[in-house]
Amino acid sequence: MYVLGTAGHVDHGKSTLVCALTGIDPDRLPEEKEREMTIDLGFAWFKLDGGQEVSIVDVPGHEDFIKNMLAGVYGINAALLIIAADEGVMQQTREHLAILDLLRVDKGIIVLTKKDLVDAEGLELARMEAEEAVKDTTLEGAPIIAVSSTTGDGIPELKTAISRLLEITPLPRDIGRPRLSIDRRFAVKGFGTVVTGTLIDGKLSVGQEVEILPPGLKAHIRGLETHKKKLDVAVPGSRVAVNLANVPAERIERGMVITTPGWLTTAQFVDVNLHAVKNLPRPVMHNTEVTFHSGTTEAAVVVRLLDKQKLNAGEVGWAQLKLDRPVAVAKDDFFIIRSPQGTVGGGQIVDINPRRHRRFQASLALNLQAKREGTSEEIILATLEGSGPSEYERLLLACHLDAAEFKKALDDLLKNGEVIATGVMGLHQYIFSKSRWYALVKEVIALLDNYHAQFPTRRGMPKEELKSRLKIATAYFDGIIRQFSDDRVLVEKAAIVARPDFKVKFTAEQQVLIDAYLKELAVNPYSPTSPDEMNITAEMLGALAADGKAVIVAEGVVFSPAAYEEMVKRVVTQMKKQSKITVAEVRDLFQTSRKYAVALMEYLDAQKVTRRTGNERVLC
Ligand code: GDP
Repeated sequence: MYVLGTAGHVDHGKSTLVCALTGIDPDRLPEEKEREMTIDLGFAWFKLDGGQEVSIVDVPGHEDFIKNMLAGVYGINAALLIIAADEGVMQQTREHLAILDLLRVDKGIIVLTKKDLVDAEGLELARMEAEEAVKDTTLEGAPIIAVSSTTGDGIPELKTAISRLLEITPLPRDIGRPRLSIDRRFAVKGFGTVVTGTLIDGKLSVGQEVEILPPGLKAHIRGLETHKKKLDVAVPGSRVAVNLANVPAERIERGMVITTPGWLTTAQFVDVNLHAVKNLPRPVMHNTEVTFHSGTTEAAVVVRLLDKQKLNAGEVGWAQLKLDRPVAVAKDDFFIIRSPQGTVGGGQIVDINPRRHRRFQASLALNLQAKREGTSEEIILATLEGSGPSEYERLLLACHLDAAEFKKALDDLLKNGEVIATGVMGLHQYIFSKSRWYALVKEVIALLDNYHAQFPTRRGMPKEELKSRLKIATAYFDGIIRQFSDDRVLVEKAAIVARPDFKVKFTAEQQVLIDAYLKELAVNPYSPTSPDEMNITAEMLGALAADGKAVIVAEGVVFSPAAYEEMVKRVVTQMKKQSKITVAEVRDLFQTSRKYAVALMEYLDAQKVTRRTGNERVLC
């Protein structure tokens, strides 16, 4: 399905031409004429000789053109630039042409209308003027066809030219992420909410759940229609009426976007490649306030120029736009900015929700350039470098690549170590560029080395402390720690992390106490004095346990590993003999007190060596 857009000065014969091509008068009044759900989409269509259906979006007023041109820009595969032969190129012709140029619409036909009102010389003049006007624009070299919509002269030739043009026009892309920027909405009796727009980037199907952004409403598609025909599936590049279930019409506004749930986000900041129009009277200054248009969305924006003090007519620069409200746009979307005096400039979105950048940084321009024009691998790397680590889905969205292509490029980057992924695919996976990952490794090593130097008697840093020092979200932290641990950056000991080669260093006084305590554990293996009583702190005891020099069985009950092993062995042997054992029997076995016997048996229960039944234990 192809969509043609008309452009040109008011009264130059756009609507009359559409009518001559299609037999449909695009100016007639909309929905009152219609029955049932059939909605006038504000467009006409016709069949080419080859059977191909072509939609033509035609809008009456100049301001409407600006908005609708953008609304359909991805859907609009080609433009008809209409110039009345008797008047020639006018101010609005130039502005529309500038917009087509900014939006990179490079397939088009220049139609000289009202051929019947001029003689051969007048027609030639108009042709030369048109050629001159499109010079250095995307429409330079476009075919020029003269017609009279009133007599029909030239209309067959125009149709042939349209056929030829569409033969070389690529089909609208389908990347499986449908978006429909809403241009109109109605409440239709018996059907409920109906919205219209041009569908881009993917298909929509009846019954499908969709999300409407902003604000993120959920709805179902009850019906779809294009060219007044009901459809089960609408394809990209078509003008579509969507009947929505579960959402009242009052909640829908022009500028909202219908899409599949879960992937598109709204943005209030975007990085862009900004072209100033050629006939700009005054340069675009840093912090200029203008109106932003993309799709059917409109918002007030402040333009932060990133690599220039000002942007002169015809110049290109990088900018960050700050919007006055969230809009649902995606990377690579086209936009224009306008002031009350006219179109100021436009270009393509390079990044959604970027960080605030420092101005005049050489690395920033390179990063934005890679995001805009690089290979898939370069785009992924530039996004990870510029915006930091990201989850898979968020990264896919930020890169705005085809899902299969993104996966392949990311796999290649992972394989050759340019990118590091922590966590598990689909579950808290967090993806880093190599340089950001090694910067993090360096930071962790420095943090732990400092910690060990500051607290030599502690076994390591609590994980929670490391998490808050690194400012890493809880969801990703475990995966990151696991990766550090696999890479031997650190070792994990329950809630503590340390450098792999770190050993606790006790003070001389502590060492004396520890030596005395270890001696006590050896001398009184089954009823040793509690660590407290021997001035052994929890920290010291923890270090001994981690070092394999003590087994903490319960609060105040600690055995040497040799004693503990011996006790387990004897308890198990005894139980094998008599199939069960009581605390009193354990006590007698080791000639110890009830306190130690109870602690040991509860510990063995917890270790699933034994199981308690009444006053006795059996083997698990
Ligand atoms: P739009 O504002 O560009 O849509 O212009 P319209 O289609 O409304 O046309 C403006 C006026 O020019 C109308 O009065 C039309 O009848 C007239 N017109 C349009 N095309 C032709 C043409 O090819 N020949 C003549 N003689 N008049 C035309």
